[in-house]
Amino acid sequence: LAAVRAVEALRESGSSASIVMIGAERVLPYDRPPLSKELLRGETTIDDARIHDERFFRDHDVELVLGAAARQLHTAVRVLELDDGRRIAFDELLVATGAAPRRLPVKGADLDGVLTLRTGADALRLRAELMRGGRVVVIGGGLIGLEVAAVARAAGNDVTVIEAARQPLARLLHGEAVAGAIAALHRDHGTIVRTSTTVTELRGRGRVEEVVLSTGERVPADVVLVAIGVVPAIEWLIGSGVHLDDGVLTDASLQTNVPGIYAAGDAARAFQPELRRHVRFEQYASASEQGGVAGRVMAGRKAIPAITPGAGTEQFGVRMQIVGQAGAAERVLVRGSLEDRSFAAFFVAGGCVRGAFVMNRPRELPSVRKLVARRVRVDERRIVDDGEPLALSV
Ligand code: NAP
Repeated sequence: LAAVRAVEALRESGSSASIVMIGAERVLPYDRPPLSKELLRGETTIDDARIHDERFFRDHDVELVLGAAARQLHTAVRVLELDDGRRIAFDELLVATGAAPRRLPVKGADLDGVLTLRTGADALRLRAELMRGGRVVVIGGGLIGLEVAAVARAAGNDVTVIEAARQPLARLLHGEAVAGAIAALHRDHGTIVRTSTTVTELRGRGRVEEVVLSTGERVPADVVLVAIGVVPAIEWLIGSGVHLDDGVLTDASLQTNVPGIYAAGDAARAFQPELRRHVRFEQYASASEQGGVAGRVMAGRKAIPAITPGAGTEQFGVRMQIVGQAGAAERVLVRGSLEDRSFAAFFVAGGCVRGAFVMNRPRELPSVRKLVARRVRVDERRIVDDGEPLALSV
């Protein structure tokens, strides 16, 4: 996504540079959000998720190199080496290699039936397993884990989610009450949600048969999804001279320490002037925004990304949105009802709303976004008063 946005921005900025876009997967670039929802349910295909068809790349004079991964970067001679042995010379380079699923560091993690979800091919493999029906164990109660658990359960599987923290989505949402509402949504649909629990071993003869928990319990499993987060896909840059630290370090306009080399998307840890530190976002909107900015900067323009962090998810037909910084707050104010699953939770720090989590309140969402973006002090009594239009608090 970041690379495609960069290509668009380069051409829109009038660049006539020759552009080569390299992708490890054999297919045209696609959007990932449907992989853990619509595609997994069988409602859409990978082709539906394509960002552009082949014609776009032809029309924009972009040479596509698909099915080859970057293996090594030789910065001194400005050559990129691919895993098929090809060497590509460049003047400017954008690193947009994204992230890869974190591996579960326990015995048995390589058994058959133990899957991760990142690519379209991963999603199709997982879908085939879920359709066969059986006992599904999801390790990790993050966005992928919960979305997949919801699809698996709706397809009639027995589903257990195992989350290390005290609640699912604990890192994204401050406080336990709000995340508890999401856990309750899953439990009400018959999913077993185990929190404050980790996995010590996966057992089976060739194929996974059971998951051993830190409590010593054994959970039978026909298929296991490991969804315990991602790590930036930057090993190929080790030794290249490009500064790395949980991502490719860049300045605010996405330039690395090596002139002419940029980074965007999940792989990039860019300096955020407002926060005065480097941050690696793992979000669709930021990959899209950063890609566009990288393209403009590569075309010689001045730009820095304007990022409003956030993510949307859908589980059991319930739509939820995380807006802004919802992970660190002093207090949480709830408007509406957690039990009825219709609420907006506001995460407050220094008297200002820093972030929000909205469940089933599509009409209030624009006002919530405004409130978070404006970062003004709010009247706390008014904001939680469901009888008062939220727009008045904005
Ligand atoms: P994630 O959101 O980082 O969640 C991983 C979860 O697994 C965390 O809650 C983590 O808890 C937990 N965990 C870590 N180690 C564990 C262990 N050994 N046992 C049990 N639980 C463990 O990552 P993800 O769900 O794998 O998703 C991958 C990426 O895709 C993320 O960048 C995510 O934002 C993105 N994504 C986004 C959407 C969306 O926007 N709708 C949907 C799907 C995926 P701790 O936090 O305590 O470590």
